Amino acid sequence: MNILWQAFSQCPEKLPTKHFEKANKETIRQLLYKQMEHWNIPKHLSDIIDHTNMFFPRSIYEIKDFPVWSKGRVVLVGDAVHTANPFVGQGASYSLEDAMLIAKMLRDHEYRDAFYYYEKDRRKRTEELNALFQHMSIQNDIDKKMNEYTIEWDEETYV
Ligand SMILES: Cc1cc2nc3c(=O)[nH]c(=O)nc-3n(C[C@H](O)[C@H](O)[C@H](O)COP(=O)(O)OP(=O)(O)OC[C@H]3O[C@@H](n4cnc5c(N)ncnc54)[C@H](O)[C@@H]3O)c2cc1C
Repeated sequence: MNILWQAFSQCPEKLPTKHFEKANKETIRQLLYKQMEHWNIPKHLSDIIDHTNMFFPRSIYEIKDFPVWSKGRVVLVGDAVHTANPFVGQGASYSLEDAMLIAKMLRDHEYRDAFYYYEKDRRKRTEELNALFQHMSIQNDIDKKMNEYTIEWDEETYV
């Protein structure tokens, strides 16, 4: 049986590539145990770590406050302009919402206006949600914000 598992941790600054992305298996195993040194690690969890023979360590970055989202005829969408913390599992939703709104704006406006309305709407939403996600305890507020957003889409006019 194969198991795919993930572990996340936050660091104040990037780990050097030689100590993370290019580190050997034993170094990664030690790093994992160090991260969990104050945990009461159940045996099945240490078994999984001990028997894992492939690790794919990756650094994940947050992008904060991009000053502009477009320049000339180029506009950024998805992770290129606003990342969502992987803990909250919303990055794909943000990207799909971006794609849908930019398509709609480009259908309805010339590109400069389209980029303007797209950024105005999406910047507000992603900044508000990201701020909420930093305080995950207010789950009701998050659910409300997630559900109150709609993009009206008139399918017949989309060819
Ligand atoms: C560990 C992890 C777990 C996550 N879990 C979740 C989750 O549970 N739920 C969720 O909603 N989101 C999750 N996300 C976030 C989600 O995966 C991203 O927010 C989403 O994929 C962003 O979509 P995107 O289209 O903007 O970028 P991407 O999905 O990164 O797509 C960009 C594409 O462009 C390609 N590309 C890059 N450079 C070039 C180039 N020069 N030429 C051509 N192509 C290029 C890349 O290969 C890639 O296919 C997670 C992210 C991570 C890292």
